[in-house]
This record gives sequence, structure tokens and C-alpha cells, in this order.
Amino acid sequence: MDKITGKEIFPCPFCGSNNGNVVNSGHLGSDNHLAVECDGCGAIGPEAEYTDSCFSDDEEVEEARVEAIEKWNSRCDFKKKV
Ligand SMILES: [Zn+2]
Repeated sequence: MDKITGKEIFPCPFCGSNNGNVVNSGHLGSDNHLAVECDGCGAIGPEAEYTDSCFSDDEEVEEARVEAIEKWNSRCDFKKKV
């Protein structure tokens, strides 16, 4: 379960680990992408994006967390880390 949103994170479809964490998956200087990453095998779920500006608030980030978790739970479009 995600500590911040209280949403359930389903077990990893690759390794069955229950230790999914919402991480910042952004790269190239953009840190406004969140995705669920599996602690067991490093698989990363689909990303959720939020607007990264001085106007963005916690609520917006939390919405993106929920979106990332829901995408992970729907089990589509996974990327496996090399
Ligand atoms: Zn896994």
C-alpha cells in the first residue's frame, strides 16, 4: 500500500513482489513523472505526469501518484529495467 495516498499497489506481475513503490521516474532534469517501481525486480509501470511549477501543490502530486498506481494496477504498458 502506498503510504501517502493509502492506495493499494498490486503485486508485481513479473516477480510477484508486494514491495511496489511510487518513484520519481523523470529524467533529463524533469522530475515531474511518477511511476510505480518494483523493489524486487526493478520493473517500472506506466508514468503519470504532473505539472512541475512553483504553482503545483501537493494535491496535484498526489493525484499523479494515484494515477501512477492505477496504471500499475491495470497492468498495461510495463517496462522492464535492463
Ligand atoms: Zn517485480
